[in-house]
Amino acid sequence: MIENFFEVHHECSGSLARTGVIHLAHGDVQTPVFMPVGTKGTVKAVSKDDLDEIGFEIILANTYHMYLRPGADIVNEAGGLHGFTKWNKNFLTDSGGFQVFSLSNLRKIRSGGIEFRSDIDGSKHFFTPENVVQTQALLNSDIQMQLDVCTGFGVDRAEAERALKITSDWALRAINEWKIQREKGYKGILFPIVQGNFFDDLRKESAEFVSALDTPGLAIGGLSVGEPADVFAEKLRHTVQFVTRSKPRYVMGIGTPEYILEAVADGIDMFDCVQPTRIARHGLYFSRHGMVSIKQKRFERDFGPLDPECNCKVCRTYSRAYLRHIFREQEILSSMLASYHNLYFLRNMMLEIRDAINNDRFEEYRKSFLEKFHSGNI
Ligand SMILES: [Zn+2]
Repeated sequence: MIENFFEVHHECSGSLARTGVIHLAHGDVQTPVFMPVGTKGTVKAVSKDDLDEIGFEIILANTYHMYLRPGADIVNEAGGLHGFTKWNKNFLTDSGGFQVFSLSNLRKIRSGGIEFRSDIDGSKHFFTPENVVQTQALLNSDIQMQLDVCTGFGVDRAEAERALKITSDWALRAINEWKIQREKGYKGILFPIVQGNFFDDLRKESAEFVSALDTPGLAIGGLSVGEPADVFAEKLRHTVQFVTRSKPRYVMGIGTPEYILEAVADGIDMFDCVQPTRIARHGLYFSRHGMVSIKQKRFERDFGPLDPECNCKVCRTYSRAYLRHIFREQEILSSMLASYHNLYFLRNMMLEIRDAINNDRFEEYRKSFLEKFHSGNI
């Protein structure tokens, strides 16, 4: 086990929410933390200098994409993800498993690994728990994920059981390979993943199994895969009871204020999502008073800021009328400004959340944030 990897700063009274810090190879990460997603080694439409300016300490990259193009060997030659992208704070990489399930054709799961064809050129590949750890070590990821078997919402019990069994076996194999890589000088951390689909007993079994593994952190998977919000909240609350509180806990694929607040309330420390930058490219902005679609006619002559309560450079500089205009003209700057604002909004929200937890008023903050956010008063 790695010493002093994670420190809890404060546990909020009346809630499971907590603040802490994760010590990583490329700097400390204050938690709870939202991590922007740079699928192909870039957060879409946002430069690494802007990410730095907003204050992010860790971002994601996707193993599946970087492995297929440009290839882990090229990234490694450039000095890993940090040398290649010049983002010199932390990277978290997923295992590629999720993309194999959602993007690739003709995948075949065997006990040894997953055979699949690239969605780019149809070429054949084989991911194993071991080679996925090796690939992420070549990328020099600061936190890497084990290869797991993802199942969707609504699969039957037999399939969920089978996926869980393979995922648990693969966690052990991934840990062995990770230890070998550590001995060779790799500094990154491995997170195994809790699965079990939507079956309470399977999720409990997986949570206890993963908690006991010799890794400094863990991820809670299998949620936010198309289920209704109340099912997400119920299953997350159920799962966290059986997950150790001594390690940082990461839930994959959540990035709306509602889901973030729910996860923080359950003691989750880390989350990521493509959603804030994806919706930005569709002209959707977060604001204190809810989501704003910038294309609306009513903004045609509105020369005020997008969100008067946001202090970001987009809101301090540009008007709603201008943002609407560049979105309608499909100017590249529209995606850049909207992505910057949405990431700034979430980063600022995380700072407020941490402050609220440290002052034992997280539930109060959550309630007042959501009341305003759902008011639609913009
Ligand atoms: Zn703003």
